[in-house]
Amino acid sequence: MDKKIALVTGGVGGIGSAICKRLVEQGHFVVANYIIPGTETKYLDSMAAAGFDASCTAVACGDVTSYESMGEMAARIAKDHGPVQILVNCAGITRDSTFRKMTPEQWRLVIETNLTSVFNVTRHVIDGMCERGWGRVINISSVNGVRGQFGQTNYSAAKAGILGFTKALAQEVIRKGVTVNAVSPGYVETEMVAAIREDVKQQIVAQIPAGRLGSPDEIAESVAYLASEKAAYVTGANLSINGGLHMYA
Ligand code: NDP
Repeated sequence: MDKKIALVTGGVGGIGSAICKRLVEQGHFVVANYIIPGTETKYLDSMAAAGFDASCTAVACGDVTSYESMGEMAARIAKDHGPVQILVNCAGITRDSTFRKMTPEQWRLVIETNLTSVFNVTRHVIDGMCERGWGRVINISSVNGVRGQFGQTNYSAAKAGILGFTKALAQEVIRKGVTVNAVSPGYVETEMVAAIREDVKQQIVAQIPAGRLGSPDEIAESVAYLASEKAAYVTGANLSINGGLHMYA
């Protein structure tokens, strides 16, 4: 496959950094987006340890909740490296609470970071993809967007919204050579899951037919497939990678 320019939002996070690494292995130049200054150091160190340097990866600071910030970031990436051809919308947060205790702030933050972000980033790169006749948009949703989860009305709504967005945009751009797909991980071993109370985590694992959490690499592999030429006929799809936690047709 030709070398493409890939952007991964939340690219320095647990799943994001595994996706970046896999896309570099696939031969691409990968830009990892981050928000908090300093968090990019760990990413760059781990990429260097894997033998990947500035010839195949870079970082870009920006807030996915800001349309303007994402516009500036996309322009900077285009100028420094080239236009984004593969976009992975991976940035996300949780602010869990039962609905009756949820504050407007918890609702707003989760919707803006997980769902509005997908508009904020994709809107700046989709025209270029269509004009060049090739593109890949891969949105990281969640098993909890598909099935709903107690204590996560905000997160489940945002992640379900991503699935609707994916199917609608897929129809609009497939004839321009651009595919739009989602990946819905189950529970994956990252800091997001490490934040779950140990006894609750044990209960979750007990419900997973595979009997374990997923690894970031297992999610990254599905993203690499969707980014590949071989997935040109896959669009509007949602790949569930959840150890059998939720099965549906
Ligand atoms: P991490 O917390 O490790 O990564 C999330 C990343 O998003 C972090 O790098 C974080 O940056 C970044 N981020 C948060 N807010 C913003 C913002 N406003 N602008 C730019 N970046 C931001 O979590 P995971 O790797 O576990 O999650 C990655 C994705 O996968 C998320 O969308 C998550 O919802 C989804 N997912 C995860 C599952 C899991 O079990 N781990 C299961 C299902 C889905 P910073 O750390 O600097 O705040």
